Amino acid sequence: MRHVYIFIFTLVTYPFIGQADMADNPNQIEIYNSSTGKVESVDRVIESEAEWRKILTPEQYHIMREKGTERAFGKSCAIPRSGKGIYQCVGCGIDLFAYGTKFESGTGWPSFFEPVSELNVKLKEDRSFFMHRTEVLCARCGAHLGHVFDDGPLPTGKRYCINTVALKLKEVEK
Ligand SMILES: [Zn+2]
Repeated sequence: MRHVYIFIFTLVTYPFIGQADMADNPNQIEIYNSSTGKVESVDRVIESEAEWRKILTPEQYHIMREKGTERAFGKSCAIPRSGKGIYQCVGCGIDLFAYGTKFESGTGWPSFFEPVSELNVKLKEDRSFFMHRTEVLCARCGAHLGHVFDDGPLPTGKRYCINTVALKLKEVEK
């Protein structure tokens, strides 16, 4: 009988222990992977500023690590030949925005009405330059990507206004 109690105790507590382990590991983060369609645990990408300077171009470094903004209409965003693609973070490679959610906002920056998942971006209040905006950061490497505004099209009404240099296109074959 005692064995049965121990067995039941283990069965009941194990899922909680498993969850606690995941939450306790600050180096791991859950992100959505468009290729597999699954939420996966990946290591956070934490580099020194010197290392980021080696990984990124000077322009990417300024925008992604120093919260800069590229000139409007200064860059053209890569468009997938197949009509299907995912824009990934230049800093760490996670999926950020699907080509299908891109729309022409007329602002001169690539605009999307939603990220591939709420898990993959981090939103932060930004009160710089006497404005009240919401900053969009990469959830995995903390790179500044742009800002999100409430004047986007349906279905979300959001406009994720993103710097071109922070994105790399991954073509998805039909
Ligand atoms: Zn990133």
